[in-house]
Amino acid sequence: SSTQTAVHLGHRFLDALPELSVPWQAEGTPDPQLLALDDEVAAGLGLDPAWLRSPSGLGFLTGTRVPDGARPVAQGYAGHQFGNYSPRLGDGRALLLGDLAGVDLHLKGSGRTPWSRGGDGLAVVGPMLREFVVGTAMHALGIPTTRSLAVVGTGRVVHRETPQPGAVLARTAASHLRVGSFQLARAAEDVDLLRRLADHAIALHVPAAADAEVPALALYDHVVGVQAELLARWMLVGFVHGVMNTDNMTISGETIDYGPCAFLDAHDADTVFSSIDSGGRYRYGNQPLAAQWNLARFAEALLPLVHEDPEQGIPAAVAVLETFLPRYEAAWTAGMRAKLGLAEDADPALATDLQALLDANHPDHTGFFRALSTAARGDVQPARDLVLDLAAFDAWTTRWLATGPDADAMERVNPVYVPRNHLVQEALEAATAGDLAPMDQLVDVLRHPFDERPGQDRYAAPGPAGTYVTYCGT
Ligand code: AMP
Ligand code: MG
Ligand code: MG
Repeated sequence: SSTQTAVHLGHRFLDALPELSVPWQAEGTPDPQLLALDDEVAAGLGLDPAWLRSPSGLGFLTGTRVPDGARPVAQGYAGHQFGNYSPRLGDGRALLLGDLAGVDLHLKGSGRTPWSRGGDGLAVVGPMLREFVVGTAMHALGIPTTRSLAVVGTGRVVHRETPQPGAVLARTAASHLRVGSFQLARAAEDVDLLRRLADHAIALHVPAAADAEVPALALYDHVVGVQAELLARWMLVGFVHGVMNTDNMTISGETIDYGPCAFLDAHDADTVFSSIDSGGRYRYGNQPLAAQWNLARFAEALLPLVHEDPEQGIPAAVAVLETFLPRYEAAWTAGMRAKLGLAEDADPALATDLQALLDANHPDHTGFFRALSTAARGDVQPARDLVLDLAAFDAWTTRWLATGPDADAMERVNPVYVPRNHLVQEALEAATAGDLAPMDQLVDVLRHPFDERPGQDRYAAPGPAGTYVTYCGT
């Protein structure tokens, strides 16, 4: 039995920026079935999980039963995809249902919109569950991210390379404002629109910027800072986003749009998981530079708000952009200090020297850092077994152990469990075939990534060697 009272969805984006979205509705779903639900996310929204599981809740989660007063929209945005500018992207298969409890509630796979171009507006079970699994893991790892509320199978067959079961993902985000939102407003050559967009972003994400001498520059500084932090978190945990296009970079600093994403097994800067990233633009080691490139595009979009003659705004914007790499390095160094259990005043070369060791030896990224906490307890063998250059490892380890690393602290920041690609793949294949148990078990483990579970070694082990490719846009 449900205790759900009426759900009141706001429409703050439509109110503030009517030019950047179109009121729209979801397509019907022939036979909705709940595949995954995050009760904690539901609770945060004030939604009763029992109601969400009911027919009327499934209608809400798929956009087919919209609460009174809600005004769902498809959002427009532009963006650079793999370096090429597209003036007209937008929610081609998504809807912003509205805002609830201060966050955006958004659907993916809800049908065609004015931005669908040649696409069918649909999504399939595997990729939507991938976003659910990986987003849930990222949150449990403490990394800023959109949250997955639910995945509902639609009962519709979706035509990809093979026929696939359709699904709708419901997710929450601090907002769905992206660098690409600003690129669209800038391309419209309407400074008032651009200013309203910046004001909206400031109100949501950095209210203090409203009082700055140049609010748009204060907004930019904030976004450069949160993205520097985010990129450091990705690199430290071994996360590869896979499609760092400017439409997939948030203003909030949350990770968004889990497409061909994956976690490293072997540590290797050249790792690419996406079949469409043939040039390796978004390879693991290039992610900080890809983020910096996107932030340069964000600056270009903001220039008319920095100075009435956009050209004259460039030096101030560049000065902020130039803080990205130092802020990234500082966040990375602080994160490495925590991963290595080091005191504040420890030699920073311990971190950079270890990085060189990782780059040369390609140990399992997650397993190696966790094994270092065992080394800090006195047993170096599990870590030593993962490297080839034993002389370099021994020399580094001697220096590091001499600092007295804190093993307990290390175990609180170095996960045992990350969503390894082969495990995710296995769980999604089973779910697509109708068996949800492997995914439920995987999610259960990933919700507590730092707690070692006896008898669950397979969730901590790397996959068989080889290149894994995941696919986006399906
Ligand atoms: P993504 O790579 O998922 O961020 O998507 C890039 C763009 O393609 C966005 O504008 C999406 O809305 C659009 N898109 C992706 N898949 C589809 C689809 N099946 N139908 C319509 N539009 C889509
Ligand atoms: Mg938790
Ligand atoms: Mg996207």
